[in-house]
Amino acid sequence: MTKRRKIKKKNVSIGILILLLAVLLIFFLPIENKQVKNKQNKEEIIMSNYVGKDYEELKTWAEKNELTIESESEYSSEYKENIIISQNIEENTKLKKKDKIKVVISKGEIPVSIYKDNNVDELGNVPIMMYHGIHNMKNSETPNTGGNVDVDGYNRTTEAFRKDLEFYYQNNYRMIRLVDYIHGKIDVELGKSPIILTFDDGKENNFKVLGKKDGKLEIDPNCAVGILEEFKNKYKDFNVTATFFVNGGLFQQEEYDTDILNWLVDNGYDVGNHTLTHPDFTKIGAETTQKEVGTMYQKLDNILKDKYVHIIAMPFGSPYRKDHPNFNLMLKGTYEGNSYETESMLRVGWEAELSPFNKEFDKTFLKRIRAYDHNGTECDIEMNFNILKNNRYISDGDPNLVVIKEKDKDNINTDIKVRAY
Ligand SMILES: [Zn+2]
Repeated sequence: MTKRRKIKKKNVSIGILILLLAVLLIFFLPIENKQVKNKQNKEEIIMSNYVGKDYEELKTWAEKNELTIESESEYSSEYKENIIISQNIEENTKLKKKDKIKVVISKGEIPVSIYKDNNVDELGNVPIMMYHGIHNMKNSETPNTGGNVDVDGYNRTTEAFRKDLEFYYQNNYRMIRLVDYIHGKIDVELGKSPIILTFDDGKENNFKVLGKKDGKLEIDPNCAVGILEEFKNKYKDFNVTATFFVNGGLFQQEEYDTDILNWLVDNGYDVGNHTLTHPDFTKIGAETTQKEVGTMYQKLDNILKDKYVHIIAMPFGSPYRKDHPNFNLMLKGTYEGNSYETESMLRVGWEAELSPFNKEFDKTFLKRIRAYDHNGTECDIEMNFNILKNNRYISDGDPNLVVIKEKDKDNINTDIKVRAY
């Protein structure tokens, strides 16, 4: 009997326990769920900064808040694999359910095989082209070689200039600003090479204004800038730009000169100093040197304030030597109480320049290539670009990383991260 009663008692207590559990399941769990739901409805969804964080972290958070993610991935020297490089929604932005977040995720470092396939070399040479006038003529209308208007080839026909630009583009050169080059800022697609265009003397045919319509300049489509704009539209990835070095007469169109200078800097071009009257700097004194440079800077300053480049294209390439006393006065001087500083100076001719990451790079004494034809000889375009086939700068596509060949490791000087292969 007692044994039986004991069993009965045990059954009763188990029954109570099950009942209790059931009550818990039926009442408490749904209440808890309800509470969580209410809390979530009240809680706002606020975007955090996920840049530099693991993609999984964002995914978990997005799932919880019923947000969608659109992602793309790219190689990165800065971020490890699966780390978020950028997000389209700013930190602290309020979001709603179903909102879409776009992110770029790192694939990690580019595999070396890609550098090899593209022959990447950021210690290769960079051509700085030197142009003067662009004359609206056919090549057949000049008695000189190719598209040279004058016997020395300082002036090109419009036909030749268009051919030059087509040649640069088809041979995988992409334009960069001279001022970016001297600062080591080379943003060119993977496998492409930088090229720099310069124009000296402020010829009227560099920027010919036909008139003004609704406050806008009408530019002759056959002047240098007209043709450059044609190529800007033709090849969006050419990154068309150039630096114009002017004298006191600017572009020889007094009524429009202020408009021209402003138009140039507003449209991705640069303006630099070619000195007031274009003297030979071996034939003048210290005072005149500072007048020539300082007055020209003053003139640019009056029109463009801080928007011109502190770069001089040395007239005739003079004073030709760095140890000439006027050389330093062109770099730093004072005229009529105004002091000036020049960051970089350009010479005349004859070959491509070094990479700005080369330890021998000297931005105060840069060589240019005279843009002219001489049947592939005498340092003309053809001759120089044939040489460049073997030693040109070829970009890795990442402006924050300098990729060089293992053999050049000792020739480098840069603050930017370096990868040798
Ligand atoms: Zn000149």
